[in-house]
Amino acid sequence: MALPVGPFGGVFQALWRCCLRAEETLCRALGVQLHPALAIQTPVTIPEASDDERSDNVPSFLDSIFWMAAPKSRRTIEVNRCRRRNPNKLIKVKNNIDMCPECGHLKLKHWLCGFCYEKVRHETHLIRQEIKAKEGGPFNSPTVETVFLYENEKPHAEDEGKRIVEQKRKRPSWFTY
Ligand code: ZN
Repeated sequence: MALPVGPFGGVFQALWRCCLRAEETLCRALGVQLHPALAIQTPVTIPEASDDERSDNVPSFLDSIFWMAAPKSRRTIEVNRCRRRNPNKLIKVKNNIDMCPECGHLKLKHWLCGFCYEKVRHETHLIRQEIKAKEGGPFNSPTVETVFLYENEKPHAEDEGKRIVEQKRKRPSWFTY
């Protein structure tokens, strides 16, 4: 146990002894025996840092923590379900689904059929490849109109003077002359 030492050490020691004696007298009078208490040795004077030192030099463990707002109370399952199953969040039922008259796939009304569009895209790609092979490179295309002829087809009278690209494939049913 440490007794305070300093300019007033003598006064403190006298007070300490006085306290001990009073404690012993009280214990005897009551017939109780006190157990020794845990004592911690501490310096008499704790050096206190000034405000400037505290803010500038001494890093606190709280500095490395990112503080966020936390919910004050738990939300009940009813409230959570009302929010999650709100009609605004559910998928809307579509009544504007129609059948494609060409291929029979389902599509949205007033929209292009994706299946038919993909067929047209593929056919256009093949035609472009054939034109590219015939021209032999860019900037060689003639200034006249181009007519595509499929298998077993002959040019019409109005196609005279136009460039004719023939293909050895059958004309698709949806691609009219
Ligand atoms: Zn279609």
